[in-house]
Amino acid sequence: MAKLYELLANNVAWADRVKADDPHFFERLSKTQAPEYLWIGCADSRVPANEIIGLLPGEVFVHRNIANLVVHTDFNCMSVLEYAVEVLKVKHVLVVGHYGCGGIRAALDGTHHGLIDNWLYNIKNLYYRNKYRMDSIDSEDERLNFLCELNVMQQVKNVAHTHVVQRAWERGQPLNIHGWIYSLRDGLAKDLGVSIQSPEELADEFRVVNGLKDG
Ligand SMILES: [Zn+2]
Repeated sequence: MAKLYELLANNVAWADRVKADDPHFFERLSKTQAPEYLWIGCADSRVPANEIIGLLPGEVFVHRNIANLVVHTDFNCMSVLEYAVEVLKVKHVLVVGHYGCGGIRAALDGTHHGLIDNWLYNIKNLYYRNKYRMDSIDSEDERLNFLCELNVMQQVKNVAHTHVVQRAWERGQPLNIHGWIYSLRDGLAKDLGVSIQSPEELADEFRVVNGLKDG
């Protein structure tokens, strides 16, 4: 394992390499950021946002938590989303889960883990709502990975159901929300084909902006 002084030495070497490539990179970046993407991913150390999609600092705004959940009462995630959409005006929100997610595994193992159980309760609910489909899968790993995919699909909807996103659409701001899943085994991310880019794609019950207007 690297020692802390080695990390700082790594940092110096990295900054030197970037400057050698582009002498004004940091000067330019320090003045503004204009990323087109918001990444909402798992906190798992094996799923780093920038590296996976080959983007430089400044090109992707990042929020990560255990099991890449978008919970409407989570002020952290909601604040990130609001800033990304309303100030940075990102064009795409990428919800990126990963197979073999430890958070999702922990939600299903029936044991007490501490504070995180409250967070993982969201996943237990998701499992319960899909119990019939889930229980038809024999392999435990496959069942877990299926829930990893279902979780991404649900979080894409959770993003789309926020006031922030629906107000953006109402203003005519282009905003597309995507669901991806990443494989730790081969380093490849896959689009789950559940993108949402307009309020017409939502169930009426979740179209909050129309509700606000009527009120
Ligand atoms: Zn994870």
